[in-house]
Amino acid sequence: MSEQIVDIDPNAGFCFGVVTAIGKAEEVLASGQTLYCLGDIVHNEQEVARLAALGLQVIDHASLKSLRGAKVLLRAHGEPPSTYETAAASGIEIVDATCPVVLMLQRKIRRAYLDNPNRQIVIYGKAGHAEVNGLVGQTDGTAIVVEHETDISEVDLHRDMAVFSQTTKSAEGFEALCQRLRSQVSDGVTVECSDTICRRVSNRMAQMTAFAKQHDVVIFVCGRKSSNGQVLFEECRKVNPRTYQVAEVADVRAEWLEGAHVIGVSGATSTPKWQMQEVKDKVIQLIQYGKD
Ligand code: SF4
Repeated sequence: MSEQIVDIDPNAGFCFGVVTAIGKAEEVLASGQTLYCLGDIVHNEQEVARLAALGLQVIDHASLKSLRGAKVLLRAHGEPPSTYETAAASGIEIVDATCPVVLMLQRKIRRAYLDNPNRQIVIYGKAGHAEVNGLVGQTDGTAIVVEHETDISEVDLHRDMAVFSQTTKSAEGFEALCQRLRSQVSDGVTVECSDTICRRVSNRMAQMTAFAKQHDVVIFVCGRKSSNGQVLFEECRKVNPRTYQVAEVADVRAEWLEGAHVIGVSGATSTPKWQMQEVKDKVIQLIQYGKD
């Protein structure tokens, strides 16, 4: 038993976009002001609960319309222009925590849309995801979101197109989509692809794969709503089938650890370090006492 080693992945944890957003929220809350957040600040239930205990109140877009003169934080995912318009009309003060990487992508899409209104804007991403809604908003709602292969039927293959990606999608998936579109469009139609995947996410793939290979078992900690987390988890499981996803410490099971000598605890860019430490402590406890 004493030979077993439990490591926390040194590269796992919040990306700078999430760290900045949480820092901004904590700063406002520490000054005693009321702060609302449009949607969960991070796709991690425990971190959302921790900030709620400090006073952060999560609202949705419908409630935003009924607020007057409040302070509202926009999270790292970004928002469409309509949100800023609603806020301005209601005297709402925005604390803008849109990640600079997302902001740059929004501007790129806006420019592509305005520069050539005849060209289609295609976004490789998860339909309905907050970041994707913010991106679609840059095109006045006209962009076509391609999440699955079947969504390609929505694209007009006789018209030029500019293709972008949600920041957290896989680079391979984006490349495959671009190749497919190029092979299917009519002669003379241009398919301009811009790789807009966040390097913090795409670099994590290689780090994650190396970490997963070095461990007999990997416990991957991430909220079930985290799309970045799901992508990383799937990649991790591809190289190490003994990878298990947990949303919280109570999900860890003793039977997963059977026969494992080196156990790794990893997580998404939305997983707080404190939560990975909790899972590590639980694993050590299970190794020592052998039961949940
Ligand atoms: S994953 Fe990348 S784009 Fe998304 S919030 Fe983090 S740093 Fe920004």
